[in-house]
Amino acid sequence: MSDRRNEKHKRSMQKQKEQVDKSVEAASIERGVMIVLTGNGKGKSSSAFGMVMRALGYGHKVGIVQFIKGEMASGEETYIKTQCPEVYLYQMGTGFTWNTQDREADIAAAQATWEKAQALLRDPSYDLVILDELTYMIGYKYLDEDQVLDQLRNRPQEQSVVVTGRGGGSRLQELADTVTELQEVKHAFKAGIKAREGVDF
Ligand code: ATP
Ligand code: MG
Repeated sequence: MSDRRNEKHKRSMQKQKEQVDKSVEAASIERGVMIVLTGNGKGKSSSAFGMVMRALGYGHKVGIVQFIKGEMASGEETYIKTQCPEVYLYQMGTGFTWNTQDREADIAAAQATWEKAQALLRDPSYDLVILDELTYMIGYKYLDEDQVLDQLRNRPQEQSVVVTGRGGGSRLQELADTVTELQEVKHAFKAGIKAREGVDF
């Protein structure tokens, strides 16, 4: 019985391996990719920072621009500022729109922040660019969608870019090579558990 089961398992694994090998062989294009991490589930920004760590492991040059963020410190911010001086980090520095409630000021801040992002998207020395929470700037029309998409499209060929945030529109997703929608199955916050240092920020 268990021999038959082992044999069946082996055959199934062989088949899987053949399929994976075929896909690996078919993927022959070498260029940077654009990744969009969206959806309501937790894990968009933390996944982007996971890729920062991954890239740094190879000595790649990384630039991070955070839209929205800036009022509350986070572990990743502290770590990068103190341990990774080679990483470029710029934060918009205003809170979220329901905190500031000042549309004009938000637009000015978004545009100034976009200037920083554009500089990275024009610089081929950056291997990985993270545009954290950029989607909201498009959603609120703080930034011109066409201009943002053009700049993302025309970035250096070897440069990868990660955009995080809910929404952002279908055109952003069409332009991206990889789009992951994180789905909320559960979130501790909904059960009354406070956001935790080192986990949530
Ligand atoms: P993270 O930074 O943890 O990867 P995220 O980038 O996916 O989260 P944001 O909306 O940017 O999502 O999250 C900002 C904060 O809100 C984080 O502290 C995160 O843990 C928390 N959060 C994320 N998703 C949810 C959710 N579905 N319900 C409640 N809180 C959430
Ligand atoms: Mg986030």
